[in-house]
Amino acid sequence: MDDKANNETDSKLPKTADVVIIGGGIIGCSTLYNLIQKGVKNPVLLERDVIGTGSTGRSMSLARMHYSNEVTTQMALESLYWFKNFEELVGHPSGFVQSGYMAIVGPDGSKAMQDNVAMHKALGVNVDILTLEEASEIAPMVNLKETETFCYEPESGYADAYAVAAGFGRRAVELGGTICTSTEVESVIIDKGKIKGVKTNKGVIASDTVLIATGPWSQKFFQTFDMDMPLQPVRHQVILIRRPTDLIPSHPAVADIVGGLSFRPDGSNLTAIGVGEEDTDLDTYKQGHDMDVVAESFEKLVARMPQMENGFYQGGWVGLFTCTPDWHPILDRVPGIDGLFCSVGFSGHGFKLSPLIGTCMAELILDGKATSINIDQLNINRFETGELMNSRYGLKVLA
Ligand SMILES: Cc1cc2nc3c(=O)[nH]c(=O)nc-3n(C[C@H](O)[C@H](O)[C@H](O)COP(=O)(O)OP(=O)(O)OC[C@H]3O[C@@H](n4cnc5c(N)ncnc54)[C@H](O)[C@@H]3O)c2cc1C
Repeated sequence: MDDKANNETDSKLPKTADVVIIGGGIIGCSTLYNLIQKGVKNPVLLERDVIGTGSTGRSMSLARMHYSNEVTTQMALESLYWFKNFEELVGHPSGFVQSGYMAIVGPDGSKAMQDNVAMHKALGVNVDILTLEEASEIAPMVNLKETETFCYEPESGYADAYAVAAGFGRRAVELGGTICTSTEVESVIIDKGKIKGVKTNKGVIASDTVLIATGPWSQKFFQTFDMDMPLQPVRHQVILIRRPTDLIPSHPAVADIVGGLSFRPDGSNLTAIGVGEEDTDLDTYKQGHDMDVVAESFEKLVARMPQMENGFYQGGWVGLFTCTPDWHPILDRVPGIDGLFCSVGFSGHGFKLSPLIGTCMAELILDGKATSINIDQLNINRFETGELMNSRYGLKVLA
């Protein structure tokens, strides 16, 4: 963060806040910015470490619109506008690169893709189902098969999730919001079913409105007030391959549903592979790569882009998704505690939806209902009522 933000960080903890946001990932920062835009004078974001240090800083930051549900498609579509115009809207770069995005399914996924694309087109997404010839023309470096179905979003791409989080946070501070880093919320203060504030490692802040945006730490945080939430940390590996740029200068982002991996260019000379959906433990998960997964994923990448056989492994990272049973987020009030809200369980989608999540949560908090997009389906009760969100695909992260 800049000097202003650091000053805010170093200053004494505010005694009161109109709204307290717990968690300085992309969701907390986007919501802080949106609250300020809607006229909240004194919102305070509390981050126990530094901005972006959780899932956000490890995101692959793909921004595509291919979803099985209208609510997420619409959020991704409107969020894409933000990534593309971030500098103009927020005053800071998002790192957006319009690489294009191609999804590939086998015969079993063909109908699902066609249904999804029809829904996307009706919502205004720029996307088409392509013939093999058309797909090969757009992505001549990718090995495509007669038996597969392809769709392509020319306007999609990837950005830098850290930059977006920091940009939202920085702008919010420039406009009068407060971010306190190195500030851990130990508990929420509840009195007679109403939220009264938060207790941190640096003291107490009084507030009648609190948002939980604690990413993979959310299940643990809910347990501090004896609430059990269906949130599971899931380990995902990002593997960087040095691309032979003489042979493959660039390529679109690709979701290879047949191979069970996605890949995109990373900067000018790397290709990033995202792979793995493995339940894990928050405190003890393996932060290094599984080398057998690296070898297998590299092989799959070469099967898709044969000239990548001249590439080589250059590291990468491992991070956590926070998954709900239906792999969709929970955006709601916390039942039974007046003034407490949550925006959690992003299940691998939190980056590409983040600008609109911030908008919708600010509306829910201030107006009692999100109006930009109807988020009712993403309510907290659905795991009890069984009205879960659906995906047309087996690869859960595609949702
Ligand atoms: C490897 C990987 C690849 C991904 N790829 C994509 C992708 O391509 N596209 C996409 O859309 N999404 C992707 N995601 C998902 C996306 O990155 C996440 O959904 C998103 O970053 C979640 O943001 P968040 O703010 O909810 O959580 P986080 O970024 O984890 O932020 C939560 C913050 O809360 C803080 N915190 C926790 N407890 C406390 C406390 N008690 N007090 C104060 N602070 C606290 C933490 O320190 C942390 O900074 C990926 C995720 C990973 C890990």
